[in-house]
Amino acid sequence: MAVYNAPLNDMRFILNDVFNAPKFWQNNENLAHVDMETVDMILEEMAKLSKNILLPINRSGDEEGATFEGNGVVTTPTGFKEAYKQYAESGWVGLSGNSEYGGQGFPKMVTMLTEEMVFTANQSFALYPNLTVGATLCLNAAASEEQKQTYLEKMYNGEWAGTMCLTEPHAGTDLGIIKTKAIPNDDGSYDISGTKIFITGGEHDLTENIIHLVLAKTPNAPEGSKGISLFVVPNFWSMQMAA
Ligand SMILES: Cc1cc2nc3c(=O)[nH]c(=O)nc-3n(C[C@H](O)[C@H](O)[C@H](O)COP(=O)(O)OP(=O)(O)OC[C@H]3O[C@@H](n4cnc5c(N)ncnc54)[C@H](O)[C@@H]3O)c2cc1C
Repeated sequence: MAVYNAPLNDMRFILNDVFNAPKFWQNNENLAHVDMETVDMILEEMAKLSKNILLPINRSGDEEGATFEGNGVVTTPTGFKEAYKQYAESGWVGLSGNSEYGGQGFPKMVTMLTEEMVFTANQSFALYPNLTVGATLCLNAAASEEQKQTYLEKMYNGEWAGTMCLTEPHAGTDLGIIKTKAIPNDDGSYDISGTKIFITGGEHDLTENIIHLVLAKTPNAPEGSKGISLFVVPNFWSMQMAA
């Protein structure tokens, strides 16, 4: 039977002895709430979650995979939904999130270690919350205040998931030739149309809404990659309005 014991001593060695992370945290006013005792607790809790909850469902992920019923409904493998609920409710999705919007503000130095444990125990599960983390990083860096208020908290607490929709049937590496169009409306919104493929977590049954970050081109955009824009496209719009 497969066993996963996270290399906690190696992780502590890296933080304490190689990078002297506690001193770095103390000297950084944004990280004043981070200390080695708290980080140790975080690492130990993730080691338990990875070993006891995520590793045991790695096999169902491989053997069953996600299934598509043909009517737009995607069902994740046995155990994924329950594990995701526990993962989200324990606050793992928002661990590195901006504390102004409900995140916990822990540095990447810490979350790359928790992410390593999740990926090692169960790579297919790991993609769902970590694509969401990627989308929140992007929104936090580039979205309007209204968009941050609307999306970040619910994504940090795991109620909503996120994706990155770049690839199209004819455009993978060369995104400058994407065909997805964004036509402006009078109210400042856009109508987006096009075809995306290979989107990790593009549909699933883990969350009530999925927030897609979609690459598209506006009507008079320049040729090539200079003409690409990024749009926030929630799976369910009415939920977003009610938020
Ligand atoms: C597991 C998985 C998850 C994915 N998740 C997402 C996702 O969440 N969102 C998303 O948008 N996409 C996703 N993708 C798609 C992924 O981003 C694309 O597959 C990737 O960008 C490559 O595009 P392609 O498959 O069209 O290959 P191509 O672009 O056709 O490339 C094929 C080969 O040609 C080479 N090549 C291409 N252009 C050049 C060049 N100019 N010079 C030299 N060599 C070149 C490439 O290196 C590669 O070896 C995912 C793919 C996988 C496999």
